[in-house]
Amino acid sequence: MAKFSRRFIDNIDGRYYVDEACIDCDLCRQTAPDFFKRSHIGAASHSIVQRQPVTAQEVAACEDALQACPVNAIGKCEQASETRTESSEEKPEHAAIGAAFGSVSPFLV
Ligand code: SF4
Repeated sequence: MAKFSRRFIDNIDGRYYVDEACIDCDLCRQTAPDFFKRSHIGAASHSIVQRQPVTAQEVAACEDALQACPVNAIGKCEQASETRTESSEEKPEHAAIGAAFGSVSPFLV
């Protein structure tokens, strides 16, 4: 199960995210290319959420990717309060990387 506290800092803010369990298998990018893309932080590449779904059809595409991920690296927040609770428990390890680039989102604070 994906953990919000382990999400990559370069996910777009919102309900869906990819965490550091990602093995860069490409399946989510093939399943829902409008919402997932490859990113590079550090030495390895991984997937991130590049756009959050809005319509029911878009949500279904992200759900298909979430279900298909072989390592359960795709997660979603059930409600806004969940993200605040989880983010206050543990800061993501990649926050330092984001800070180095001056791109820490207020969503992650
Ligand atoms: S399907 Fe899962 S493991 Fe594969 S690239 Fe997407 S998030 Fe990473």
